Amino acid sequence: MKSRKLPKVCGLNCLTLLCIPLVLPILRCTAVGTGSAGSSSSSGSGSGSGSANGGDFDYRLQRVRNVLKEVPLIDGHNDLPWNIRKFLKNQLKDFHFGSDLREMAPWSSSAWSHTDLRRLKEGMVSAQFWSAYAPCSSQHLDAVQLTLEQIDLIRRLVHLYPHHMALVTSAAGIEQTHRTGKIASLIGVEGGHAIGTSLSVLRMFYQLGARYLTLTHTCNTPWADCCKVDEPGKYPHIGGLSSFGK
Ligand SMILES: [Zn+2]
Repeated sequence: MKSRKLPKVCGLNCLTLLCIPLVLPILRCTAVGTGSAGSSSSSGSGSGSGSANGGDFDYRLQRVRNVLKEVPLIDGHNDLPWNIRKFLKNQLKDFHFGSDLREMAPWSSSAWSHTDLRRLKEGMVSAQFWSAYAPCSSQHLDAVQLTLEQIDLIRRLVHLYPHHMALVTSAAGIEQTHRTGKIASLIGVEGGHAIGTSLSVLRMFYQLGARYLTLTHTCNTPWADCCKVDEPGKYPHIGGLSSFGK
């Protein structure tokens, strides 16, 4: 496979910030110190100091940790697999996921590299959707093959770290894995162009463990317009979704 030029940003339209709405209300709630019904009894601060004022960062942090022990924190999008392709051509023998990648080139200098096992654990990420991404430039060319290779990479990565991660394909699987302390690892396919306008391909992605497909990335597909058609000077090609898209 020839090397491919990587778009600078793989998708700010993605779900990377999914965790924020989950965490911020917790912070706000605990700062006020209300005993809201959601986490009233089982998540005591442990300090017992009663210093439940908004400025007590350690207190609030402990409250968040207590909540996240009970409730799985799910990150809906992580582009690490594409970085592994970009930097290591998917050669996992050269990838040291258990190391602090902030200290290791090329990860340390990449603006798009924020993940290693250590930080996932520290952040108490309980479930992670790993993105199987193929750039829009591969549409009508080898997008399906690239996506398959990225799904293969994700599955191999998870199986390399069986004590830390488990491949999961259901909500029940997330809850079950959360109780073991491992990171539930799910697969999301990023960009509708990845299926090559074939429901057979989509079904096979599902069989391989993929559990979401975003409609578009930054390019229209034959069956869905992407967000860029709203930009000045651009226009919708099919007006949203075609009958196939629906
Ligand atoms: Zn992405």
